[in-house]
Amino acid sequence: MHEYYKAIEWVGKVSGDAEESDHSKVKTLHVTFGESSGYSPEVVKSYFDEAAKGTPCEGADFDVTVTRSMLKCPSCGHVYEKKLLDYKCPKCGSEGEMTESGNEVELTGVDYDEG
Ligand SMILES: [Zn+2]
Repeated sequence: MHEYYKAIEWVGKVSGDAEESDHSKVKTLHVTFGESSGYSPEVVKSYFDEAAKGTPCEGADFDVTVTRSMLKCPSCGHVYEKKLLDYKCPKCGSEGEMTESGNEVELTGVDYDEG
């Protein structure tokens, strides 16, 4: 259900911004999903489409960027991309720790339909 709440949040925020800036229609939402966020962009979009009806967001597209999960080595400080089932640092072999990267779910920008 977290996708549902995220969709509602974005419809509310973007519709409010559109009205404040005198735009009647939103064309594209630029959104970032981390691969470890637990969110499905497709599911958020389907709730978004439903919630957007009758708002400036109706019919808007998602431009989705998916970020990879990054690990940081506690021994040597190396930051590297997480591989499936492999947390080891490629430089020294220590067990890496999760960083914030790959967990984000963010709205990074909005395009309005000027026509
Ligand atoms: Zn290391």
